[in-house]
Amino acid sequence: MMQLQCPWCGMRDESEFVCAGTTHIVRPQLSAADADWGHYLFFRENPKGVHRERWRHVFGCGQWFNVARHTVIDHGQRKATRIVGPGQQRFQIGV
Ligand SMILES: [Zn+2]
Repeated sequence: MMQLQCPWCGMRDESEFVCAGTTHIVRPQLSAADADWGHYLFFRENPKGVHRERWRHVFGCGQWFNVARHTVIDHGQRKATRIVGPGQQRFQIGV
């Protein structure tokens, strides 16, 4: 089972966390076109590489934090260690 690094609790099993989706999304202005609002609300990037996400440690401290996750390596047999805390934007991936 893959493990995640909670900035407050340390390494925990992934089953203790929930992902709330993509982070760092820029909200359009109120006067933006309907197409821009539609894209903002319903479309997300599916990158091959590093993806920034919002996670919560629901079966632990309950804190929210950002994660930079590599989408290709996470789907394989490799173990991923994600470390992102307040003011930090880094991650580590090992085998
Ligand atoms: Zn925690």
